[in-house]
Amino acid sequence: MKITQVEAFQVRWGPADKPSQRSAFVRVYTDVALIGLGEASPMQGGRASLGMIAHDIAPLLLGRDPLDHAVLLDEAMHMLVKLGPEGALTGALAALDIALWDLKGKLTGLPIYKLIGGAWKTALPFYASIGGNGDRDVDGVVRAVEARLRDKPAAVKIRFDNARTTLDADIPGDIAKARAVRKLVGESFPLAFDANNCYTSGGAIRVGRALEELGYWWFEEPVQHYHVRAMGEVARALDITVSAGEQTYTLAALADLIEAGVRMVQPDIVKMGGITGLLRCAALAHAHGVELVPHQTQPMIGHAANLHVLASLLHGSKPAEWNDPSTRTHAAFENPPVPVDGLFHLPTGPGLGLRMNEAALAALRVEI
Ligand code: CA
Repeated sequence: MKITQVEAFQVRWGPADKPSQRSAFVRVYTDVALIGLGEASPMQGGRASLGMIAHDIAPLLLGRDPLDHAVLLDEAMHMLVKLGPEGALTGALAALDIALWDLKGKLTGLPIYKLIGGAWKTALPFYASIGGNGDRDVDGVVRAVEARLRDKPAAVKIRFDNARTTLDADIPGDIAKARAVRKLVGESFPLAFDANNCYTSGGAIRVGRALEELGYWWFEEPVQHYHVRAMGEVARALDITVSAGEQTYTLAALADLIEAGVRMVQPDIVKMGGITGLLRCAALAHAHGVELVPHQTQPMIGHAANLHVLASLLHGSKPAEWNDPSTRTHAAFENPPVPVDGLFHLPTGPGLGLRMNEAALAALRVEI
């Protein structure tokens, strides 16, 4: 089998979407009439990753055997390492890795979770990941959480998404929101708090103590992600589980985060490594007795890829992230992933198990 063509394109879900809101998809074609589907990190519409795929990585892949995917992608990584082995490059490689696993599944007629060792469970609970709470008042936060409880999540995470150029902007206000959400859901419902990197170490410890009082399950990215030692200091100072790693792009960097003291890591399948990379992260986390709870905000390809890996994890300790419950991304797929009674059921079709609606995709597709 040989790779014959690599397509990299954006998908515009609504006419008013800005270029930065588009998804970044790839398709890998072969000489056996099978096509693999992948997705890159959508930061700024994924244009940087798509450009690297189209111009730099596709020429390396043409004519090669897609079953050599790990070798091919490690070769591409080291060929392009001086672009910076983080962010846009690892997003590009992640998209291709997912597409090559999708192909491998289609070639064998098996879902990816079977190829990576099987599923501990095929119906997975999720947590509602709710962004934008820095800009809402307390009532607005409560209403936003209430709306998402209708989907029957196993847990809720409130994200603040404040400007990263200002730290500790409103600690009492943030704690008041955390308290109001606790009051809404009751004492035993699992909650998480995502600071999106907007505290100093001292501010983070103050908020973390309040979250401990309120019985929150985890405290995500309290300080700037690049202050790895500070992230570890905050994690070691608090009893609540402190998590980080959605902005970690290499296995070596994840090892540094664990070494610093973070005990729950959150690499993202469309940002670093794809399925191969996330499995390597899982092995590293397991070796250190650290929880691996992947970050994942893309509702279709990224989500499906993430579910296959999550289902295969020993000690999968937290639900899957589900960020976007809207139906805006459904049109391009014949079987978009949607939860039933609070559970996502693993697709049973070959590869990722997603089937594209070609006519709808053609209408939404934007060439880069
Ligand atoms: Ca986060």
